[in-house]
Amino acid sequence: MEIQQLKQFLQTTSTPLITTHKSPDGDAIGSSVAWFHYLKNLGQNPTILLPDSPPAFLLPFLNGTIWQVFEGNENQILENLNHFDAVYCLDYNHPSRVGKEMEAIFSATKVGKVMIDHHQNPDSFCELTISRPSICSTAQLIFQVIEELGDLLKIDLEIGKGIYLGIMTDTGSFRFPSVDTNTHRIAGHLLQLGLKHYEIHEAIYDVNTINRLQLRGYAIAEKMVFHPTLPIAWISLTREELERFQHAKGDTEGLVNVLLSIEGIQVGIFLSEQKDGVKLSFRSKGAYYVNNFASKYFNGGGHQYAAGGKSEDNLEVTMERLVTLLSDGELNRIDSE
Ligand code: 5GP
Ligand code: MN
Repeated sequence: MEIQQLKQFLQTTSTPLITTHKSPDGDAIGSSVAWFHYLKNLGQNPTILLPDSPPAFLLPFLNGTIWQVFEGNENQILENLNHFDAVYCLDYNHPSRVGKEMEAIFSATKVGKVMIDHHQNPDSFCELTISRPSICSTAQLIFQVIEELGDLLKIDLEIGKGIYLGIMTDTGSFRFPSVDTNTHRIAGHLLQLGLKHYEIHEAIYDVNTINRLQLRGYAIAEKMVFHPTLPIAWISLTREELERFQHAKGDTEGLVNVLLSIEGIQVGIFLSEQKDGVKLSFRSKGAYYVNNFASKYFNGGGHQYAAGGKSEDNLEVTMERLVTLLSDGELNRIDSE
């Protein structure tokens, strides 16, 4: 049904805009790149619009696409919005995920919007919503959508690289419970197309800077804290600490997962001090779900086992509030309701 609607919609557009969430990760970039090349293969002229710059290690994946960054080009982009005849919203479920500033594009354009996403509880701001929260990544969903549109043969290596990137980064390299038989079938299909999976792993995981590794080492050696009674651990970093290691975008990505690799730990939390508050990343496994906790107390959301949020208080106050909530059993209680 939704696929039939998408099929008809695709026949009415020629210059679509592809958008994704702020602080784009591998799945945001991978699914945007894959959808870009698919639309290209349909004879359309898409443009990718990112709310802010991606980390340097994701830039090579954008080669061969047309892309812009909203931050710093706000007026020019808002003035030229009427150039586009469709907006795709990939890897996010709510208009606020593109950030306060870029959200203005949704009121500035009247063209049809299509969401393709895998986060729970999608907001109804798009004319067509393809939301499948059980799928591990938006990139995998993009593959399945193209397949359901009857266009499997249009999936080429360029599309495949984006899909593999998104699946790999959103599944912790094919290990999370969200991986299903389709995930491996799709990976197999991409390898048959000639995709060199190891090149994508190396491009993401073997591009550490010395500063990034030392920041990681410092965070693990000096800043890990364990809750006295619950299987919860966290790391918080101040701006001063981030600056000491000349922190660049993406440097702390994955740090929160280190906490979950500790035997017995079921919840990992990473807090980083920003200019205007604190960003929180939550990861969990087993009986602990973090998405409701992130949305109820930290103005965020995400998935059961991976969520994020923010706090407008300073780091110290945020930490105190977090520890009180954890000690009161809020994390457990809410999600077992
Ligand atoms: P991360 O910790 O990698 O930033 O985010 C983990 C997951 O939580 C991602 O799937 C992301 O979509 C979601 N997430 C992160 N930050 C926010 C936020 O501020 N709001 C919402 N709704 N989801 C978030
Ligand atoms: Mn995703």
